[in-house]
Amino acid sequence: MSEKRDYYEVLGVPKNATEVDIKKAFRKLARKYHPDLNKDNPKEAEEKFKEANEAYEVLSDSKKRAQYDQFGHAAFDGSAGAGGAGGFGNFGGFGGFGGFGDSSGDFGDIFDAFFGGGGGGRSSRRQGPQRGDDLRYNLEISFEEAAFGKDTELTIPRTEECKTCHGTGAKPGTQPEECPKCHGTGQIQEVHNTPFGRMVNTRTCDRCNGTGKIVKTPCPDCHGEGHTRVRRKIKVKIPAGVDNDSRIRVSGGGEAGTRGGSSGDLYVYITVKPHKIFHRDGNDVICEVPISFVQASLGDKIEVPTLDGKVEISIPAGIQSGTILRMKNKGVPYLRGIGRGDQHIKVKVLTPQKLTAKQKGLLEEFASENNENVNPEQKTWQDKIKRFFK
Ligand SMILES: [Zn+2]
Ligand SMILES: [Zn+2]
Repeated sequence: MSEKRDYYEVLGVPKNATEVDIKKAFRKLARKYHPDLNKDNPKEAEEKFKEANEAYEVLSDSKKRAQYDQFGHAAFDGSAGAGGAGGFGNFGGFGGFGGFGDSSGDFGDIFDAFFGGGGGGRSSRRQGPQRGDDLRYNLEISFEEAAFGKDTELTIPRTEECKTCHGTGAKPGTQPEECPKCHGTGQIQEVHNTPFGRMVNTRTCDRCNGTGKIVKTPCPDCHGEGHTRVRRKIKVKIPAGVDNDSRIRVSGGGEAGTRGGSSGDLYVYITVKPHKIFHRDGNDVICEVPISFVQASLGDKIEVPTLDGKVEISIPAGIQSGTILRMKNKGVPYLRGIGRGDQHIKVKVLTPQKLTAKQKGLLEEFASENNENVNPEQKTWQDKIKRFFK
């Protein structure tokens, strides 16, 4: 007892660690010392887990943590008189922590939550209603659907309350009966006499899994589970303006709860397919448009694609490659609020290749004409270079 390690040290977190840090640290340790991963050294792993569990029980509870911060381990050994050890199921002279019998239950809870649950063997430590798990659905949509939204119907495989037995698991006409092992409490108390006094462990009843009830005649449709697996069609409205990694929550679209608990939620994660001609930057749509150097020099009217169809724009004479022409309100609608982003036309001036003899001649003639003043920027550059080499 005297060599008990500091709880913060056990979890490897600083004294000012947040609740989230503490939970994370504990989960990491719980995984590390999981019995399945420590078959070579189960005894030591179990000890380590118990130690981490004990530290977590205290540090995750703000009241107990405050007591521990003030009195250290003495807060819970009875001599400090702090009633903080209540709820650990210990009676008699022995203080300390009696509730180790619960650790297997804790394993179940942690791993189900962590690995997404869904499998069998789910621990039911709590007797009350339990909310169902949340579900994630990955949905790929087109660029245009992301811009303007879409009503869609998804087929979600999920659990739902069994219609035949309404979740009780008992065959219609029969009722679940009180568990004879725990007399309906869902918990079993075991008393041990130790050199320090009597110690009472409370653990979840293994007969009824903590429900306090036993189904004698199981419902034929769900085999006593109380829920069934279905493929449920769920309508989802994708709002205009969503982007990659947008997440849409469908309240109650997840797994069924147990013992009258509400359903979890469904989260639809959006991925937007790349578009052949448009790129997106926030709510602006970027489109690169190639033009000839003649169009760039003389100016022109050209048609460009937008989300709303073709639009004619003017290319001003003398435009440079890389110039961006802005088209107001032709972008993607704002997800929250009104209005739309802009479309940016990025002009790319192409240099002609494979000239005919006649074109070459014309360009040479063009070059000989007033060579110095073709472009002021070029002249400035040439002057700079001249000065640099002087
Ligand atoms: Zn049923
Ligand atoms: Zn029971």
